[in-house]
Amino acid sequence: MINKITIVGAGNVGATTAFLILSRKLCRTLAVVDVQKDLAKGVALDLEDSRFVFGADIKIEASADLSAVAGSDIVIITAGRPRSPGMSRQDLIKINSSIVRHVCTALKRKAKKAIVIVVSNPLDITTYVAFRTTGFPRRQIIGMGSSLDSARLANLLSKKILVSIEDIDPAVFGAHGKDMLASRMTTVKGFALGSFLSSADFAKIKKATVERGATIVGLLKKGSARFAPAAACLDLIEAIDQDKKRLTFAAVYCKGEYGLKGICLGLPVIVGSRGVEKIVRLSLSAPERAVLKKAAKAVKKSISQL
Ligand code: NAD
Repeated sequence: MINKITIVGAGNVGATTAFLILSRKLCRTLAVVDVQKDLAKGVALDLEDSRFVFGADIKIEASADLSAVAGSDIVIITAGRPRSPGMSRQDLIKINSSIVRHVCTALKRKAKKAIVIVVSNPLDITTYVAFRTTGFPRRQIIGMGSSLDSARLANLLSKKILVSIEDIDPAVFGAHGKDMLASRMTTVKGFALGSFLSSADFAKIKKATVERGATIVGLLKKGSARFAPAAACLDLIEAIDQDKKRLTFAAVYCKGEYGLKGICLGLPVIVGSRGVEKIVRLSLSAPERAVLKKAAKAVKKSISQL
């Protein structure tokens, strides 16, 4: 069992992730940090009251002070502004990069061994900021975005072709944003998509996957998606806790893989107790390589403006 998990940012995604961690009894101490001190405290008290039903003897801590990250095995960064209707993830770049930099400066001092799951948007940029600011080995910095996009594709596909969600093996990676690569390597129980739907229908599903976050933002009016992002965080935490060697998709710092260098982008990875233990090299088609290249170009441009 993990000793300590800290969630920085007790808003929608942070609080929901904390609740999932508690419900699965994944750690001994769960710390919730937020600049809004009362919010952290209120979320912590509510979580504490859930301990009885789950039989979870977990110590819950609340703080407005980032020194609470000390001794964490895993830190989840959900601090920052979410999108409002009409906003793209890129619109959050300045404010959230500076928040993530601030948080990661504390991690560098107080939680050197922590595996850091970055959630704040724009994800590929904040993951890069976390990697650069902490100076941690790249295996310790995991950007959660592509696994959520993959889960969204799986959901939409399952509804379209009327096959159990468990039988869908989605593959979405690259940018967590409009340039994401929803790959035709996605299969249904290992069988190629062509047996289940036309290229035109897959194109529609890809578009809906790209727009899914914005669709939810538009409907909620205030705030953005929380349940599926929290579930995607849980998946990573369980992979780390149980040393699962889970093949998933996450933003990582690239050192030449797929021709990408000096940026963070979602790639197929193996996640285990040491964090990102391997980047899996798949052979992509030329159009798929072009999507990654386009995404990398956009991310590079954003990084140069930091
Ligand atoms: P939210 O506004 O509900 O919560 C964010 C919290 O961060 C707030 O409570 C705020 O007080 C806190 N905060 C701000 N600065 C802080 C700091 N310096 N230290 C500690 N806490 C701080 O937002 P949310 O809906 O939970 O979303 C959080 C972030 O996650 C957003 O940037 C959103 O775009 C992003 N997000 C990413 C994904 C993904 O797939 N990667 C999915 C959903 C949301």
